[in-house]
Amino acid sequence: MNQLINPVAYAEINLAAVRHNLAKVRSHAPQAKIMAVVKANAYGHGLLRIAQALGDADAFAVARLDEGLRLRQAGIKHRIVVLQGFTDANELRQLIDYQMETIVHSSHQVDLLEGGEADYILPVWLKIDTGMNRLGFKAKDVDSMYRRLKQCRLVNPAINFVTHLASADDTSNVFTAQQIQSFNETLAPYPCTNQGERSIGNSAGILAWQDAISDWVRPGIMLYGISPFSDSTGLDLGLKPVMSLHSRLIAVKPVQKGESVGYGNSWVCHKDTTIGIIAIGYGDGYPRYAKPGTPIVLNGQRVPLVGRVSMDMITVDLAAQVSAKPGDKVTLWGDGLAVEEIARYADTIPYTLVCGITRRVHFRSI
Ligand SMILES: *Cc1c(COP(=O)(O)O)cnc(C)c1O
Repeated sequence: MNQLINPVAYAEINLAAVRHNLAKVRSHAPQAKIMAVVKANAYGHGLLRIAQALGDADAFAVARLDEGLRLRQAGIKHRIVVLQGFTDANELRQLIDYQMETIVHSSHQVDLLEGGEADYILPVWLKIDTGMNRLGFKAKDVDSMYRRLKQCRLVNPAINFVTHLASADDTSNVFTAQQIQSFNETLAPYPCTNQGERSIGNSAGILAWQDAISDWVRPGIMLYGISPFSDSTGLDLGLKPVMSLHSRLIAVKPVQKGESVGYGNSWVCHKDTTIGIIAIGYGDGYPRYAKPGTPIVLNGQRVPLVGRVSMDMITVDLAAQVSAKPGDKVTLWGDGLAVEEIARYADTIPYTLVCGITRRVHFRSI
């Protein structure tokens, strides 16, 4: 096998931090079971390494069937819930073959279930749309769908119920309380003795809305040490960052007052300074729209981004670090520099940053 040269841009994935964050979920919802959300390659952190680190979770949730297949093929034996479920008979067959569980959110799916064969009793999660208006049944349709599912030979009769909150990260928004109330009212006719279980809260629900904690919680972003709220960081919430993105300085050069740096000549030096060139760019998933002033940690100290982010490089002002030299290590986010802060400078949410790391970046677990 080829010996790789030392990778330039790399993401360190701290598995002890993931486990710490899972324990944090447990402390917020001690009575609940935890469906750890590992969709989108575990929010960009690496599906299998994260699933293996989260062996203590009670189940995994993925968005799509193929993500669940990867878990099964890697030998993961946990319950796996497919949040988008299936859209045709072939996908339904695979759900059954790989012993997964499905959200049921449309009558199209119920039609397919009615036509299915019963060699595995498929657990289902009936999704109720309490206001997100994405997937799920409106309250008025729940009863007929529930009855139809109860009649399906291949469906586990202990039907579970789930809903998803639209604005739980906005802690003053009454919409969340209304969604929770609507979920509970819709389900009032179904005694818990039907053995089915219920699930409401994502990370923001778990952290900010006590009533969103029911039989099961579905944390995603908080497992990765990231706050779901715009006014706090994961550290503020007792979480530990899981991904640290690193690269290195590859050149240092003096630039004179009045000269511009980078594409579009958009940033102009207002006094003589030294510019550092770092090997990271949007081709790695560093955000193209990060504004000048976005912090980068170099040799333990912050330096500001200047000029536009290019595909392979960014530029920083080294006025505060004149002794920096090519080869010095850089942190773009993670340990010592919250990804939440970078997201604010790039007018986005931290979810998009961690999900957006590209294949050029090397991953290593620590
Ligand atoms: C992504 C997702 C979650 C997890 O949300 P976070 O905000 O990352 O905690 C939970 N439930 C559903 C249905 C989801 O799609």
